Amino acid sequence: MSAALPATLLASINQDRLWQRHADMAAHGAIPGPRPDRAGVNRACFTAEDIAARQMLVGWATARGFEVSQDAIANLYIRRRGTESSRAPIVTGSHMDTQPRGGRFDGIYGVLAGFEVLEALEDAGIATVAPVEVVAWTNEEGGRFAPGTMGSMVFAGQKSVEAFAEVRDTSGVRFADALAATLAATPAPITRPLPGVVGGYVEAHIEQGPRLEAAGARIGVVTGIQGMRWFEVDITGETAHAGTCPVGQRRDALRSAHAVVSALYDVTRDPEDTLRFTIGRFLVDPGSPNTVPNRVHFTIDMRHPDKATLDRLADAIPATITAAVAPCTATVRVTNASAPMVFDQQVVDRVEAATKALGLPYLVMPSGAGHDAGYVARLAPAGMIFIPCERGVSHNEAEFATPQDLTNGTRVLAATLLAMAGVV
Ligand SMILES: [Zn+2]
Repeated sequence: MSAALPATLLASINQDRLWQRHADMAAHGAIPGPRPDRAGVNRACFTAEDIAARQMLVGWATARGFEVSQDAIANLYIRRRGTESSRAPIVTGSHMDTQPRGGRFDGIYGVLAGFEVLEALEDAGIATVAPVEVVAWTNEEGGRFAPGTMGSMVFAGQKSVEAFAEVRDTSGVRFADALAATLAATPAPITRPLPGVVGGYVEAHIEQGPRLEAAGARIGVVTGIQGMRWFEVDITGETAHAGTCPVGQRRDALRSAHAVVSALYDVTRDPEDTLRFTIGRFLVDPGSPNTVPNRVHFTIDMRHPDKATLDRLADAIPATITAAVAPCTATVRVTNASAPMVFDQQVVDRVEAATKALGLPYLVMPSGAGHDAGYVARLAPAGMIFIPCERGVSHNEAEFATPQDLTNGTRVLAATLLAMAGVV
């Protein structure tokens, strides 16, 4: 081990404790999986399960003498004091909510890895200059109340809490009412300001993709979050009788859509296989076996970490569609757009240095999925640490990460946070 590493802190990171905390949290919303050791979790935002998980975390924090607090959107903070209480905290964390058929690691790993660092700091008797905090962000997944990443969005000042008040879940429950109930049920004072205050941020997360496992890497040093563009495309033709209308005289919306989709796959072909291009919904009207379709509706989700490349490819979409759609017509709408987020180079360098010093094989990579870190990065230097997950499977009960990988990521996180917070 390199002398640059905080050896006493790393020695205090307890793999069994970290694994047990994952098991304890997984009890809140446990659902069956494909095998007993691959059981899943269904813990949507502000449900009884989410509230129980919050209460459990507060209980652990209080038992260790850490300060707990909330803000008005129920982001939950656990603070270990620094020697300079006026310093903005160095923050880590992630989310505790899951997808309806989620796993035991997405989100909660970042919270528990952060909490393990706080406990290890305590066990090792290390004083930091800046406070170190763990945050559990509200509603990252967005499965019950849309959109996702509400907590970090409000923390970063991109939206107000009130903007989400009237959002309802499928059974008609208002976000504002579920929020009030959660705040009341969580034994932590509502004292934190919004937008939030943060001196630096590092989030640990499972990769949710197959790259680390395929490369035999144990850590992903995350450089940013790729940008995204969503489109909705409508192709309009004319219905006709399938038995009588000559093919040459038809305005067949599906035939035109087929040509359009082929042209789109051609124009977005990426020899480096970095671009993510997905047509995930494809609807044909009227959907009768003996009627020529008059309408096709489909969606496009495209993502790339480089802004210029994403812009160039996304800008080519409407013209590509128009050129291929004859004899039908098309309308194209952009329904969602986010620019690539590039993390602070100093934070990325610190994560890489810690990984190297620990002798862990790693990849330097962008995040394919969106994360709370993307919003926090608007306020302060931020970065992320990925660990492999089995076959890259996530948002699935079978999601799995090994105790050793959980610990590796926590060790990198500990070294990075300590460097950012400063040792007395
Ligand atoms: Zn997540």
